[in-house]
Amino acid sequence: MRTPIIAGNWKMNLGQVDEASQFVRQIRPPLSEIEGVDIVLCPPFTVLAHISEMLTASKIALGAQTMHWAPGGAHTGEIAGGMIADLCQYVILGHSERRASAPQHESDEAIRRRVGAAFEHGLIPIVCVGENTEQFKQGKTDEIVGHQVSVAIADLEVDQVGKMVLAYEPIWAIGTGEAATPADANRVIGISIRKIIADQYGEAMAQTVRIQYGGSVNADNINDFMSMPDIDGALVGGAALKPGFVDLVRNAG
Ligand code: PEP
Repeated sequence: MRTPIIAGNWKMNLGQVDEASQFVRQIRPPLSEIEGVDIVLCPPFTVLAHISEMLTASKIALGAQTMHWAPGGAHTGEIAGGMIADLCQYVILGHSERRASAPQHESDEAIRRRVGAAFEHGLIPIVCVGENTEQFKQGKTDEIVGHQVSVAIADLEVDQVGKMVLAYEPIWAIGTGEAATPADANRVIGISIRKIIADQYGEAMAQTVRIQYGGSVNADNINDFMSMPDIDGALVGGAALKPGFVDLVRNAG
């Protein structure tokens, strides 16, 4: 049995202490009452320390939105795993807004280095994969996603693979209001992604790893995704910034 996991990616929003704490004060009590779902909030770096204190003794986990693989040094503007390890339990890696098509130009190999560094610091990576519109239209989804997953999990320790979380996020569905159909998302996750894991680590491991869907998930459609056998939760952007996030998580349980 895989425990569902819902993560809210705040992106570059709610990064000031007063607005972030006001929001967390509002959602923390009802979120804390929800059973059977792992909940992760991923705010900007600027408020991690503050939110971490607010979540002390809470079952709500905290995640960062990226990290560098290096332990420190001349990497202007970057954040090392060791700088967030005391605050966070999770870290989002390889979000499409940071991959090669985005200003940060993160390659599959760079994301793999970050995955390794995250584990070294005791953080659980939530690794995002997904095809863009053109690739989707050309029917290349399985090829693109398969390659991204294959590189991201290459040569990890077996127990690391078991702990990691993957998020299938078709880029065309992110922030557009046009979610993938639950059946399509389930097919990519169940057949394509779990097959890559099975090829590298065996079928039992493929059935152990938690894989989220992400892309225009909201409180109304989460249940349709959660009713799919291979979807274990969601990575949520826009809908994680509003009090309705509580209903979304509740409906996922
Ligand atoms: C995301 O950015 O990871 C995301 C899924 O965004 P949204 O929920 O807004 O589509």
